[in-house]
Amino acid sequence: MAYDFDLYVIGAGSGGVRSARFAAGFGAKVAVAESRYLGGTCVNVGCVPKKLLVYGAHFAEDFEQSAGFGWTLGEADFDWATLIANKDREINRLNGIYRNLLVNSGVTLHEGHARLIDPHQVEINGQRYSARHILIATGGWPQIPDIPGREHAISSNEAFFLKALPKRILVVGGGYIAVEFAGIFHGLGADTKLLYRGELFLRGFDGAVRKHLQEELTKRGLDLQFNADIERIEKQADGSLKVTLKDGRELATDCVFYATGRRPMLDNLGLENTGVKLDKRGFIEVDEQYQSAEPSILAIGDVIGRVQLTPVALAEGMAVARRLFKPEQYRPVDYNMIPTAVFSLPNIGTVGLTEEQAREAGHKVQIFESRFRPMKLTLTECQERTLMKLVVDAETDKVLGCHMVGPDAGEIVQGLAIALKAGATKRDFDETIGVHPTAAEEFVTMRTPVAG
Ligand code: FAD
Ligand code: NDP
Repeated sequence: MAYDFDLYVIGAGSGGVRSARFAAGFGAKVAVAESRYLGGTCVNVGCVPKKLLVYGAHFAEDFEQSAGFGWTLGEADFDWATLIANKDREINRLNGIYRNLLVNSGVTLHEGHARLIDPHQVEINGQRYSARHILIATGGWPQIPDIPGREHAISSNEAFFLKALPKRILVVGGGYIAVEFAGIFHGLGADTKLLYRGELFLRGFDGAVRKHLQEELTKRGLDLQFNADIERIEKQADGSLKVTLKDGRELATDCVFYATGRRPMLDNLGLENTGVKLDKRGFIEVDEQYQSAEPSILAIGDVIGRVQLTPVALAEGMAVARRLFKPEQYRPVDYNMIPTAVFSLPNIGTVGLTEEQAREAGHKVQIFESRFRPMKLTLTECQERTLMKLVVDAETDKVLGCHMVGPDAGEIVQGLAIALKAGATKRDFDETIGVHPTAAEEFVTMRTPVAG
């Protein structure tokens, strides 16, 4: 049968664009549908604008610390509207770049909501197109629990477009987004509280990292409230919000920001017209080669709910393009040793196993840890401390995990990830000459284990 396209990609986000461009580059006839914004979550309401806001928030401490280096500044004044307008301009520029990337690589772009009609057909803007393969790369969407007054709460989608910086804000959740945005709002001057339902935020990260970040954020004056969860939100006559917690406490705020995870974006996708199956958590179920239960339909990225990170969606997109149209270059995605950063202030950077995971997996471990005041702060009043930690297999000497809380942790951990992926041992770390004077050199100078 002749199809209109070899590959029809639904969703021009991180994974979809990567897959479409490479498939077209391999000679396939490709179309991509996008209903909202080119570049998807990461470019529009995720990694990129978030990082720009983090940079914005960081200036608060730079101004404060500059006094120790002899600077006298006038009173700093922050204008949210300027930051958001400049951010929007940059995102528009990136949208244009994504459009050019697609068009220049020969991909047909359909702007509108795509819906599956059957295993080989998609409908968009009243037109139907057939394809040999269909790739679902529709990403995710913020999930706000169904509590009374949830309509008064915002998610990350809205946070990027607030008209004004709230005077008081409650951030709910203890994952990446909650921690990053609490840092952004606090840094920009909002009276910020972070509410997390458990004992300690960032479940799944190394215990020492979680504790260290808790201490550092508290030192900075961020109000962390653990074992706290919202029962209801009520709008007051003056426009403020009354928040009642499950323990009966009441809090007054101007904005409640939920960052409690993301669901797969499957709205009106027409999955019922196909044999695609969902897993227990509601994400699209795929095999190791991203094929769904319907042989002509594949899925990648956040919609399969494996690892919700842009570089992972990119790698999956590439793998699909290669598998379908350049099989001789196909390599499966390796989900081990995925480095990641939380762009809190200070940052977390991490790669490999946490101490808890290593012990649980039966490794006999040696732990190396260093806590120090970064050199940049020695002329300032700031008492922030950096944490670096190595988890080493005592039997093989392999470094199983590197963890850091401190300035530029994400930048530093990217390089370490290559070493860990290549199987570096603690001896390799010890024999590596440091770059002096840097914070990063501490990773190659830790000699005495703090725990075995
Ligand atoms: P997406 O990028 O979400 O793209 C899906 C696209 O499909 C969207 O453009 C959507 O409009 C479109 N779509 C959906 N349904 C349809 C339809 N039926 N028809 C047509 N189009 C449709 N990851 C990192 O690695 N680092 C970070 O710092 C980071 N920060 C983040 C910050 C925030 C606030 C958020 C929310 C996420 C962040 N992420 C980060 C995660 C990252 O954004 C996602 O993992 C990544 O975007 C997933 O890519 P994707 O291709 O699966 O989906
Ligand atoms: P996460 O899954 O990271 O965290 C969700 C948080 O919300 C957890 O602390 C969870 O608690 C809590 N939670 C879940 N349900 C409820 C509920 N009903 N009531 C109260 N709390 C609840 O999700 P995020 O929304 O922070 O981010 C989504 C994903 O996006 C991340 O997992 C990450 O993959 C990606 N991302 C990556 C970034 C980066 O690379 N820097 C930045 C931002 C996002 P508990 O732990 O108790 O379950």
